[in-house]
Amino acid sequence: MNAPLALTPVSGCGERPVLRERGQREVFCGLTGIVWLHRKIQDAFFLVVGSRTCAHLIQSAAGVMIFAEPRFATAIIDERDLAGLADANAELDRVVTQLLARRPDIKLLFLVGSCPSEVIKLDLSRAAERLNTTFAPKVRVLNYSGSGIETTFTQGEDACLAALVPTLPSTEQRNLLVVGALADVVEDQFARIFDELGIGPVHFLPPRSADALPPVGPNTLYLLAQPYLAETARALDRRGAQRLPTPLPIGADGTTLWLQAAATAWSLPASDVARVTAPRIARARASIARYRDALAGKRVFLFPDSQIEIPLARFLAREAGMEIVEAGTPYLHRQHHAEDLAMLPESVVVSEGQDVERQLDRCRAAKPDIVVCGLGLANPLEAEGMTTKWSIELIFTPIQGYEQAGDLAELFARPMNRRARLVM
Ligand code: SF4
Repeated sequence: MNAPLALTPVSGCGERPVLRERGQREVFCGLTGIVWLHRKIQDAFFLVVGSRTCAHLIQSAAGVMIFAEPRFATAIIDERDLAGLADANAELDRVVTQLLARRPDIKLLFLVGSCPSEVIKLDLSRAAERLNTTFAPKVRVLNYSGSGIETTFTQGEDACLAALVPTLPSTEQRNLLVVGALADVVEDQFARIFDELGIGPVHFLPPRSADALPPVGPNTLYLLAQPYLAETARALDRRGAQRLPTPLPIGADGTTLWLQAAATAWSLPASDVARVTAPRIARARASIARYRDALAGKRVFLFPDSQIEIPLARFLAREAGMEIVEAGTPYLHRQHHAEDLAMLPESVVVSEGQDVERQLDRCRAAKPDIVVCGLGLANPLEAEGMTTKWSIELIFTPIQGYEQAGDLAELFARPMNRRARLVM
């Protein structure tokens, strides 16, 4: 723990051998992102255009969070042949008209595509254009795909934010954009730190309200707060914005380097950064230290699921003292992950993509102390006596930033303690 805080590539991230897997996948589809996105953009509505399966997934994933006025729904498009497409479009228009009449608070409507063949046949971008003409300027209608054929569960957020980027207002002003959905509490903490550092103006994407779309332009520098935003980053680059290369703000190390990237771009002296970050780093380290005994030396195997695995493995190895057996990610974006990869110990096997049976074989052979995986794998592995952590929980829980570093360590310590008590 507390290794020197520097980006010291072990063997150059481009040279690190990566095991590529192309087989059966066990991940949720991009519709899952609606569960956290609908809480973030508070006047947006997500209308899934899909089947009963999609409705079921979204309701069971988000069921506990449904309040009196949910901000998502499913327009069920039943089986139709091509001749029925005109009806499907008319039905979609009818559902949207009804929804917007009932819910005048909706300012931004996302039509979210899915994978049933009858939905694939529908051109949702044209539907969005048509509906935009009808409802502008009161409501903006956008579309993206959450289809399981095209997206894993975190890529739904990427597709959603990428759809938003072309609608962002233009600016020539130098500004900082933090990209990726963060819990409000984490966003507020980061906003305070940037303010104390004198970095600004700072905006966040997604915004909390459709009326507060962040401006973007050739003088926008952006920090990714999530590792799965390849499309969004491309869309921002097309608007002239520039990404600041940095590890993700996970753990004290990652958060410090993330803030440092912005501080360097704003030409702040190191002493200013240290004054603002030092007490927070100390607090983060102290809170991680509480779980150090439970975690140090324990072996962890990360299945590919959320794309957060590489920065997570970096945190677990460097700050919690854990041994990473394998860090799998569904998709490895070389540039976006370069700094996190460079900070991973050389011994860590990095794999990209999924071949679930082969990975299960490697995992069973390695007998790790804890496995990070999707819900579908967790139950069978628990039944085999392994301790698991659901990767989706790491997406729903605020884990970024200094104040959350101890909570993140606890998320791993808790299931191992529980298992230890069970076998006592
Ligand atoms: Fe299933 Fe596809 Fe609907 Fe996702 S989008 S719930 S994978 S049918």
